[in-house]
Amino acid sequence: MNATTPLTPTLPIPAEAPEALPTVPRIPGWHEVAAVWVFGLLSAVLLYRAAYSLQGHPGVLLAAAFLGYVGSDLASGLVHWGFDTWGSAETPILGKVFIVPFRVHHSDPMDITRHGFAATNGHTALVASPVLALALLLPGSWSITPALLVLVLSLCAGVFATNQFHKWAHEESPAAWVQWLQRSHLVLGRAHHALHHARPYARNYCITSGWLNGALDAVGFFRTLERVITAVTGAQPRRDDLSQA
Ligand SMILES: [Zn+2]
Ligand SMILES: [Zn+2]
Repeated sequence: MNATTPLTPTLPIPAEAPEALPTVPRIPGWHEVAAVWVFGLLSAVLLYRAAYSLQGHPGVLLAAAFLGYVGSDLASGLVHWGFDTWGSAETPILGKVFIVPFRVHHSDPMDITRHGFAATNGHTALVASPVLALALLLPGSWSITPALLVLVLSLCAGVFATNQFHKWAHEESPAAWVQWLQRSHLVLGRAHHALHHARPYARNYCITSGWLNGALDAVGFFRTLERVITAVTGAQPRRDDLSQA
């Protein structure tokens, strides 16, 4: 560059600079640590009960496990889309705890890789544990109970692990066995999830296995939901998120 080359013009500083993003590992709340332990305990009890009463047809039990895991992928997509698309940090109750982390993740996708186990999985444990507790109430006399137990266990395990799989998808060099899980498409793949963080930033919302993303995007599932919600409420999708982009 010679002396006469004009310098790149300095961008004007916005009147309201965005808040500094967290760059250090988040300290989990006591409720998140407790939720992880409660989830582990309830899973062990349910697993014992399911194993003890495994009288169902192996094919049915396998189908129940598959359905539960697919269900967890759908649940992850719906929740992720919801918090990415609607509301803002000012939304009552949900704003600070749920919406902000999803928006911060778009500004700083590597932030999630700096979280420890409880900080990563505490919130999903809080959501999944009550479902596991309810499953304990299923009567042992029902012939369908073993299949239901397996379905709920698989669903809740998938929901619990969603953020862990999402975190792995952002790690530059995950453990070899994690990379094997990713290559086998048993958990969310790195390249697959990278599409969520690329324009138009509105696809591949499912972050457990990512199995449903292709089908949901092909049928315009989330765009249709957005049109319905806009027609009913007048709210515009990604209004807050676009303003940050
Ligand atoms: Zn997102
Ligand atoms: Zn991500």
